[in-house]
Amino acid sequence: MKTVFTEFTVSTTKKVELVNITRRVEEAAEASGVRNGLCLVYVPHSTAALIANENEAGLIQDILNKVEGFFSPGAGYRHDLVDDNAHAHLASVFLGFSQVFPLRNSKIARGVWQSIFLLDLDGPRSRRVTVEVLGE
Ligand code: ZN
Repeated sequence: MKTVFTEFTVSTTKKVELVNITRRVEEAAEASGVRNGLCLVYVPHSTAALIANENEAGLIQDILNKVEGFFSPGAGYRHDLVDDNAHAHLASVFLGFSQVFPLRNSKIARGVWQSIFLLDLDGPRSRRVTVEVLGE
């Protein structure tokens, strides 16, 4: 079995932002040379998340609104006494920091309506995205 690790950086421009990283993940997966296996996409950050869903402007705003509604800032969190971003940590905990996709014939076998997004919950920042492909 082969394992190929790559990483790229995404610069966000807003406090809470969804960035479509599908193409960059697919390029990394194809460049790995692995034909069949698994593709792990991972953000090594505690105030970011990874999701896969439809790339439609209205839905993107709905997701952002819901995340901000569920995890509203300044709700008396204890961590806010340290660095005032507990809501971002909590959203990351509940949404998750990684996704795994099947790799078939060097392509990520995702659904037609499943684009891959980095969700920055405490931007703007530079965020690392790691792509680890395992297979043959
Ligand atoms: Zn913090």
